[in-house]
Amino acid sequence: MNFYSLNKKAPQATFEEAVVKGLAPDKGLYFPISIEPLPSSFFENIKDLSYNDIAFEAICQFVSPEIPDNELKHIISETLNFDFPVVKLDEKLSSLELFHGPTMAFKDVGARFMSRCLRFFNSKEQKDMTVLVATSGDTGGAVANGFLGVKGVKVVILYPKGKVSKVQEKQLTTLGQNITALEVDGVFDDCQDMVKTAFLDQSITDHVQITSANSINVARWLPQMFYFFFAYKQLHQQHKNIVFSVPSGNFGNICAGFMAQQLGLPIYHFIAANNENQVVTEYLKTENYSPKPTVQTISNAMDVGNPSNFIRIQEIFKNEFKDLKSNLSSSSYTDEETRVGLKELYKKYNYIADPHGAIGYLAAKDYQKTHPDTHCVFLETAHPTKFLDTVEAAIQTKVDLPPQIKAVIDQEKKSIEISTYEELKSILLKN
Ligand SMILES: *Cc1c(COP(=O)(O)O)cnc(C)c1O
Repeated sequence: MNFYSLNKKAPQATFEEAVVKGLAPDKGLYFPISIEPLPSSFFENIKDLSYNDIAFEAICQFVSPEIPDNELKHIISETLNFDFPVVKLDEKLSSLELFHGPTMAFKDVGARFMSRCLRFFNSKEQKDMTVLVATSGDTGGAVANGFLGVKGVKVVILYPKGKVSKVQEKQLTTLGQNITALEVDGVFDDCQDMVKTAFLDQSITDHVQITSANSINVARWLPQMFYFFFAYKQLHQQHKNIVFSVPSGNFGNICAGFMAQQLGLPIYHFIAANNENQVVTEYLKTENYSPKPTVQTISNAMDVGNPSNFIRIQEIFKNEFKDLKSNLSSSSYTDEETRVGLKELYKKYNYIADPHGAIGYLAAKDYQKTHPDTHCVFLETAHPTKFLDTVEAAIQTKVDLPPQIKAVIDQEKKSIEISTYEELKSILLKN
């Protein structure tokens, strides 16, 4: 499939070109030129389909013919080698656990899928490439893990110094090999700005082929559609009016949910659950979209003041505010409220959530005050032990570390501190 730039001032790109470029030359995000809904028989039979079959049907039209069917099946089976369970808390509420992958956050799926697409493109024509990525916490680890040892690909990760959790930092700074971690004196938006500047800097791009592994990259963003299909498969026989409450930062995950809905998945409504970075919550109230500086919170993977993917959601709704608003609600919570949410989930359901999932839970509960005839699924986007101190303090209980976390926690951190764009540039040119 071809993709166009949302700034409409760049030529269309194939899937391969869109993945390799990351961002279009006019700085726009790529968007598919068409979305063909899946046949109704697919949804009628979904309970009998495997995760791999569902994923194949969902993404095939967007990646073919550049990725042939057989190769796509192979990539999907390597990507999805862990579970995506729906945990039912009561008749009206479930958690969709997206943290069973190697770095224990939902970003593993996108990172694994994308790295394997690049590996395939590289196998046809050996060309060295640098994946440049800014992280607010979980992308870094997922991308480092997903791309570790991939031939011909170097990875450079920028993260805001002192603003990611201990576990998140270990996951992205301890692997070595083809992975370089840069500790930026600033907030996430500073990291993201440096990355965007690098993409448009000819003095870099003339020498190094760089691409992005943030959710602006279509190969990172589109596989996130799978989650919504997997949840539907598990729930649709018992529940109607399925609503997803999606803890949102850069709005890539929830935007993938809207893509699943465009493919015909019967989703009743979406909730964007936010922390105090609440530009979208404000927008839905006022119709005034006004990005703000990032506010640091205990749900740090959502500390984004200017969410990149929101423009894709607006494109899906053809920039019709009313249509968007009838499909999307949004609410925002303080750190104090988040801690109350963690505690309540533990007391009421004996469920240990992470701070992001807890915000999803709070938003679902608030939505159901006015929409009681729904089944809300909040996305549990990371494992609670990625935020160990916060979670243990909130629920007043010790939590055991899973093996994936134990494996990195005592490894030695290796990173380079930078504070200016010039420093990034010299590293990219030397790398
Ligand atoms: C990245 C992340 C989010 C936000 O996802 P977006 O696609 O950026 O909206 C939420 N929770 C966790 C744990 C994350 O890592």
